Parts: sequence; structure tokens; C-alpha cells
Amino acid sequence: MSDVVMHKARAIIHGQETVVVLPNAMPFAGEERYDAKTHKGHLKCMFCDAAVHFNKGSATIAGQFDLRGASPHFHTNRGQTHGDRCQWNFGDKHESGTAVDKKAGFRLHLNTQGYTGDFNAVANPLYRREADKRLTVTEEAARVMETRSIRGVADLVELMRLQDPLRINQSRVILNEYDVLWPDFMIRYNRSSKTPTNRFMDLVDRLSASYRKRQPVLMEFNVRSGVYPRTTGGKTPAVQSQDIRWRREASGVTQVIRPTAYLNNRHNTAVSLAFATAGRYLVLGMARLKTVDAHDAQLHFVDIGIDDPRQVTKISLEDIAAENSRHFPR
Ligand SMILES: [Zn+2]
Repeated sequence: MSDVVMHKARAIIHGQETVVVLPNAMPFAGEERYDAKTHKGHLKCMFCDAAVHFNKGSATIAGQFDLRGASPHFHTNRGQTHGDRCQWNFGDKHESGTAVDKKAGFRLHLNTQGYTGDFNAVANPLYRREADKRLTVTEEAARVMETRSIRGVADLVELMRLQDPLRINQSRVILNEYDVLWPDFMIRYNRSSKTPTNRFMDLVDRLSASYRKRQPVLMEFNVRSGVYPRTTGGKTPAVQSQDIRWRREASGVTQVIRPTAYLNNRHNTAVSLAFATAGRYLVLGMARLKTVDAHDAQLHFVDIGIDDPRQVTKISLEDIAAENSRHFPR
């Protein structure tokens, strides 16, 4: 049994599903605060079929030695257990009895399954389920890393604004079977191939070599003009970042990388208007590579599906770095 405190649940009423947050939480678009009149008796776990209920906490019981239940949370109903692949099992919390190394990187759990259908639940090699059903970390170096639950791009922006860049750079991003190092996850827009590292070029090389041709990313888009995708017709509207181009020395063939965001959930206004003005954006999602050979160029389409406004925010990495340097002057 996981000791994670659930801060979200799903209410299923007449087949209609709504994400419910705690009464004191700030709901994102499409979410509702818990209200007993509406939601009581209709709640399920965010990530599995376990029935849950709201628990207002036990703050009034003074002197209790176990304060775990002190704040409001959702709790599994009597006799209900989380499914084997339930994401709450990965936990926001640290294994008890393990010290956190504040100089090590973060273990960042992407908890986006609630809205991104792409992300299929598969066990991560970094975790092992013990006989008593606890999940433990299999690698010593990862065990001491501070864990964070990432529910959207805003959580990553906050991390980059406030935390030591050296720690962030050593972080690992966990999503189902993926365990991605931060420098492979955060793909900064960089037009030039002359700089020591162009993360787009590295990403394309890495995806080409992998059998999956996909991985989770936080990708910086450089959108030339505002995009108001049409919602008519059968095609999924798409938004392109400016290309990254370079010539491979050996072959002389021009390489073109074209990052493209597909607005899967285009009837959600916040998704369809997510790229309404020109500039830099951060996009969180699963990058898929499709390479097409033209006669004098190789086109690498790097596609990311957008299902929820929490995957996109308009900000540049340069601006975030400037804010961060106020905390960590260099
Ligand atoms: Zn569950």
C-alpha cells in the first residue's frame, strides 16, 4: 500500500468524468474543487479503478503522534487497493528512513497520465515492487534524490526558477518505462549548429537510434507568428516551431528539424489558443520522430501531441534563467 497522500481524484457521475481537487486547492481548467453535495460517493482514484473518498483530515485531534492524516486528502475506501500500475504508487514522497541529498539532482515524476492519453502505464526499471507491495528505488544514486511530482509545465518552470541549476542539470525524469537525464529532456531552441551542443540535433540522433522513436521532453518552441488553428475539417491543427537546419559534414546533405505541436484537443479553447502570439514557448509531452528523405535534404519531424493546456506555456528559457540568476548569482 502506497503512503502517498492523494490530492486529486476523479468523479464519475452519469458516465461523465471530472477531475476533483481538494477544497482548498486551486483548480486548473476543467477541474473542480471537492463538494460533498455533488461528488460524495462518486470518486475513483486518479489513475486506477480504486474507489476513494474525501477525508477532511484530523487537525482537531491534538497530540497525535502520527500526523499523516492531519491535512485534507482523498483516501481509498475500505478494502480498496490501488492497481499495480497506478501512478500514485510512484509517489511524491520519499521512502521513509532514506536521507535526501540536497546536492544531488531531483527525481521528477511526470504525473500527466490524467490528461495525456499517450502515456501508457508500464513499470519503470528504477523501481521494484517488494513483497509487501511497497515500491522501492533500485539504484542507490537515485534513492537519495529529492522527488517532485510534475503535473504540468508550470511545475517545471517553477523548479527552473527557484532551484540550483547544477542540481536541476543532474535530475532524472521518470515516466512509465522512461528514465531520462535532464540534459536529454530539456530541449532548448537553438538555431545554430556551431555551438558545442545543439540539443535538437542530439535528440534526433538519439531518437533515430532508439527502437521507440519517442521519449518525453520539455521542448522550447520558437513560433514565428501567432497561430489560430482552424477547428473545421478532419485534420488535427498543428503549430510549427521555426526549423533547425545544418549540414552534415560527411554526406553534405542538409538536415532540417521541424518541431510540430498537434492540437489533439482542439475543442478545448485553452489548447486551441495556446500558441496565439509569436515567441518562445515551453511544451511538455512525448516527442515522436519521423524522418523523411528529400532529394537534397533530410527532414526530421519531431511531433508532440497537445491534449491539455498544462502542456504549454509562453515563456523563454532565457527569461527563466535570468530570474533564476537572482537566486544563484554567477
Ligand atoms: Zn490508484
